[in-house]
Amino acid sequence: MVTIVKRRVSILGATGSIGLSTLDVIRRHPDRFSVSALTASTSVDSMVELCHEFRPRYAVMADENAAEALSRALSDLPAVLVLGGSEALCQVAGDDDSDTVMAAIVGAVGLPPTLAAVRAGKRVLLANKEALVMSGKLFMDAVLASGADVLPIDSEHNAIFQCMPPDKIRDTRGAGITRILLTASGGPFRTHSAESLRNVLPAEACNHPNWSMGQKISVDSATLMNKGLELIEACWLFNTTPEMIEVHVHPESIIHSMVEYADGSVLAQLGSPDMRTPIANGLAWPERIEAGVAPLDLFRIGQFHFERPDLERFPCLRLAAEAFHEGGTAPAVMNAANEEAVSAFLSGNLCFADIPLIIERTLAATEVVPADSFDTIFAKDAEGRAVAREQIQALAV
Ligand code: NAD
Ligand code: MG
Repeated sequence: MVTIVKRRVSILGATGSIGLSTLDVIRRHPDRFSVSALTASTSVDSMVELCHEFRPRYAVMADENAAEALSRALSDLPAVLVLGGSEALCQVAGDDDSDTVMAAIVGAVGLPPTLAAVRAGKRVLLANKEALVMSGKLFMDAVLASGADVLPIDSEHNAIFQCMPPDKIRDTRGAGITRILLTASGGPFRTHSAESLRNVLPAEACNHPNWSMGQKISVDSATLMNKGLELIEACWLFNTTPEMIEVHVHPESIIHSMVEYADGSVLAQLGSPDMRTPIANGLAWPERIEAGVAPLDLFRIGQFHFERPDLERFPCLRLAAEAFHEGGTAPAVMNAANEEAVSAFLSGNLCFADIPLIIERTLAATEVVPADSFDTIFAKDAEGRAVAREQIQALAV
């Protein structure tokens, strides 16, 4: 008889696109998974519903007022402990009640709780790429020190992970790997002229052709910054360099990435564009479980296409590669500037085509120092945001 080890899962960012997809996989396997903690920022109604269904030990709202509202709304569930504030996020991420943490908060705010889960040595399902991009080597050193199992959830990195020899995932060297082919959809504006990119609206940028995702990553996909963040993410996760990675725009989003070997073999992972596949892979690894994903119908898809990314129209990919080469705090500043620029674009205060300009100007105006501690990273993140906001305002007048 096969015994199933039941996992206790905490979900950081439970009400988001990745959080809800994670809960959908968990819902299908009550024998394998139970929920220890659910966290969100302000969406009280959504949390009330999720708490009734999954009965976590902890429910955390990053916003203190939202925590009070949740606590009142859950008075009929006294077993669920409601907490508020960013400290509480870190507390539950590292709490002994769970063995697995889904890191699915969007942006730099996700770094402290993700790090708390890493330091507690858990299985960490990493969706929050910004956390790794900002802190790179410090983050990976923390992984090595605690022995945490960090499994990539980003579909491309999960694909690469699945195409690598299991004992070599932390290092492409010595495994006969010659190249990583990182695929990109190209986003909703792949065929737009540079001129027309000045007029695109937030709703158009968030309308991704193949994936349904949160707003921030949808805009990142449209600017190709998402691929830039993923290039850096791949370098840290697989201990490799940008020279080993070649971005292939593949508009069908069926091949999620590939690994090329010295003998000419190229291994690919394919599937319908549905995040429940990499999420189920991370939750159950090394086993395979049903994820609710529609089977791949290659007859319907018919053809695959590949293009080189156009760095003239989409400079964000180049900016990310340059920030990684520069090293130190440059990636943290680049990420901070991008978050500010995306948020300004979403609120109608910045033109889409000026997102890369803000990042470039912020990087030029912020001194790069060695990334010697997490405090340095947080300070540079704050500095990058302040500079980016000034640059956004300067463009508005
Ligand atoms: P989303 O916007 O749909 O959800 C974000 C979640 O984070 C929500 O639960 C929200 O309550 C929480 N959150 C937001 N601000 C917070 C704060 N200040 N403090 C605490 N919690 C906060 O985002 P998403 O699309 O699910 O993406 C989540 C992460 O996963 C991102 O880093 C993204 O890059 C990554 N990712 C997403 C996808 C995808 O398909 N959606 C794919 C790959 C990687
Ligand atoms: Mg991705």
